[in-house]
Amino acid sequence: MFKYDYDVIVVGAGPGGSAAAEKCARFGLKTLLLEKEKLPRDKPCGGMFCPTIRYVVGIYGTDVEDIVERSTDAVKVYFDGKIMINKKYPSFMFSRKKFDYLITKKAIEAGAKVIDNCRVSDVLGDAKKVKVVSGKGTFVSKIVIGADGVNSVVARKTGLNNGWDKEDSALAIESEIKMSNKEIEKRFGNCTVGYIYSDFVGYEWVIPKDGRINVGLGTKVSRAGKLREQFDEMLGRLGLRAGDVKAHMIPMNLLENTHNHKKRVILCGDAGGFVYPLIGAGIEPAIVSGRAAADVCYDAVRDDDFSSRRFEKYDFYCKDFVNGIKKSTIHLKVFEFAMKYHLLKPFFVSWFLDYIDDNEKSM
Ligand SMILES: Cc1cc2nc3c(=O)[nH]c(=O)nc-3n(C[C@H](O)[C@H](O)[C@H](O)COP(=O)(O)OP(=O)(O)OC[C@H]3O[C@@H](n4cnc5c(N)ncnc54)[C@H](O)[C@@H]3O)c2cc1C
Repeated sequence: MFKYDYDVIVVGAGPGGSAAAEKCARFGLKTLLLEKEKLPRDKPCGGMFCPTIRYVVGIYGTDVEDIVERSTDAVKVYFDGKIMINKKYPSFMFSRKKFDYLITKKAIEAGAKVIDNCRVSDVLGDAKKVKVVSGKGTFVSKIVIGADGVNSVVARKTGLNNGWDKEDSALAIESEIKMSNKEIEKRFGNCTVGYIYSDFVGYEWVIPKDGRINVGLGTKVSRAGKLREQFDEMLGRLGLRAGDVKAHMIPMNLLENTHNHKKRVILCGDAGGFVYPLIGAGIEPAIVSGRAAADVCYDAVRDDDFSSRRFEKYDFYCKDFVNGIKKSTIHLKVFEFAMKYHLLKPFFVSWFLDYIDDNEKSM
């Protein structure tokens, strides 16, 4: 029989990869998690959870609550500089460095082996095995889970996704800016704030945290040519000076990307396109898809069945939340259409946000 180093190799220790590794290890699978950065690593992100944090607390316990640095109870949206919506909407803020590492530690506790500072450069699969080539050696496993983010090497090397179309992905830019809690309350209230404009297809945000705010904006890659200038304008408008500025892509179209698995390979999180595109929320879908990938791995290893049909079960396990993401993709298209053709009048935005609130409860 063929000799494997691991049952499952997971590439990428973000929330998706760590969630997958944790569940695989808990199932008793011999699991290796490879991460290119030194851990704990940070990720450009607003670091905001909606009420779905309950789902994450349900899995990983109250340790998650302990790292929440602020909870806000409302969202305010400005349209062309005028307040348009101020509605109740509970949200929970945290540092991605702490949050992601918490889940990685859960994976280690469950028995997964983690190697950081270890970039994966190639993935070679055949009928019997998968070879994962990394800066710290080549490892052989029964299955590989690609959780290596929006520019996934696993997706490219296995032919599942050669890169996102500029219309199917967004570029978001952000910075964390120090501000006293007193100043935060005075300027923004205990609210998450969004800014939309009739002449900009995208949106800006201010997410208050503990002693700092996260400020950012995002738009489709096809329109992101002047992202940095737009960000500087936003900062100027708010009278803020950015600290470290980071930009990162977000996948935006699961409708067009249905290929997130094949024989012995599964993509989860951003690598598989699992993001609610309208608001760019991808942390929870990364965790849900990572755990679904682990379920597929467990079934396949238990039954020693690595046929393509076995991996199609991934679609079944992801069905419910993927329907929510697909709906969100359609909502985004409607919103963009309205913005592009200047149909975005306040009453329409208000109605649309209420409609989304009713229809995207899972976010
Ligand atoms: C500016 C911005 C703001 C956002 N705000 C929010 C928010 O407030 N709430 C929300 O829910 N979502 C938000 N998102 C989306 C969210 O950040 C992602 O959807 C989420 O991080 C996806 O998790 P993941 O585990 O799939 O991938 P990632 O978190 O990207 O993790 C992938 C990991 O793989 C590693 N990796 C990559 N390549 C390799 C390789 N070759 N070898 C080994 N390791 C590799 C990376 O270093 C990384 O650690 C935001 C995104 C951006 C860009």
